[in-house]
Amino acid sequence: MPEIKYANPETVEEACSLLHEHKEDAAILSGGQSLLPMLRQRVGSYDKVIDINDLPDQDYIDVTDGEVRIGCLSRHRDVATAEAVERHCPVLAEVAAQIGDVQVRNRGTFCGAVAHADPSGDPPVIATLLDATIVARSADDTRTLSGDSFFHDFYETALSKDELVTEVRFPALSANEGAGYEKYEPTEGAYPVATVGAYLSLSDDGQITEARLATGALEAGPTPMEDAASLLEDRQPTDEALTEAAERLGDDTMPVDDFEGSAEFKTAISKKLAKDALKTARDRAQH
Ligand SMILES: Cc1cc2nc3c(=O)[nH]c(=O)nc-3n(C[C@H](O)[C@H](O)[C@H](O)COP(=O)(O)OP(=O)(O)OC[C@H]3O[C@@H](n4cnc5c(N)ncnc54)[C@H](O)[C@@H]3O)c2cc1C
Repeated sequence: MPEIKYANPETVEEACSLLHEHKEDAAILSGGQSLLPMLRQRVGSYDKVIDINDLPDQDYIDVTDGEVRIGCLSRHRDVATAEAVERHCPVLAEVAAQIGDVQVRNRGTFCGAVAHADPSGDPPVIATLLDATIVARSADDTRTLSGDSFFHDFYETALSKDELVTEVRFPALSANEGAGYEKYEPTEGAYPVATVGAYLSLSDDGQITEARLATGALEAGPTPMEDAASLLEDRQPTDEALTEAAERLGDDTMPVDDFEGSAEFKTAISKKLAKDALKTARDRAQH
């Protein structure tokens, strides 16, 4: 195995300076739940691993200016159990609670999963659906990126090679907003084969003022399903309306046949997931 040098910076500035120096030859080690299997299987070649686990003050979840803010050392388990997440964005807690198994949730970081952009990953789908804000630090800049345009392709994002994701922010949902998330995984703890997230905002008279849908695992990355969502706008969230949008979502997906199932099966399952996710979103927005 080729030699890989290890660094464990003690400040964000030091981590960014190392990234600036090594760029694509460096990999960030946060939870290691994706990086370590990749290194073992010799996927990618890196000269330097930058372990960010000693960075101070990065393990936090708080609510500031109407946003749930997740620091880059918060684990999936932290997101799943944080009172602030449960109260202000419950769908996020559900997403985190269903990732992998206990070990993966104890070590894997939410920000790491967003940065890694696995096409079957759950955090990218919810970040797309709720248009999260991704905070990226480099040696000489801090910028914010929009979740609905952050994911470009298989493991490809809008991040530059010298940027560290330091925080992901989600909107705190108000009483007339609701979101649901459903996934199909062949066995417990495995990566999902299909996922669907749904978001609805209702007016005082119960009409849908904004609808969003996104899928994951079916294509090269999380995919906003705008045409299906547009069928819901300015309508009452009846079962009939939700079913119509869910059917359209399934028809608009472009899955491929593979060892996990035929394209036909994945289309059918995505319709069912969309119906369930939309019903959860509606129930939450009505309470
Ligand atoms: C058995 C198993 C099952 C799993 N099941 C699921 C699942 O159901 N759903 C799901 O979503 N995920 C699943 N995962 C993946 C898990 O969520 C990982 O935690 C996640 O993909 C990566 O987070 P990490 O903190 O472990 O990152 P690492 O493995 O440490 O890093 C992964 C990559 O992201 C980059 N990176 C990490 N952190 C940052 C950062 N802050 N800024 C910039 N780049 C960064 C690294 O350079 C590296 O290339 C599973 C993993 C395993 C091993």
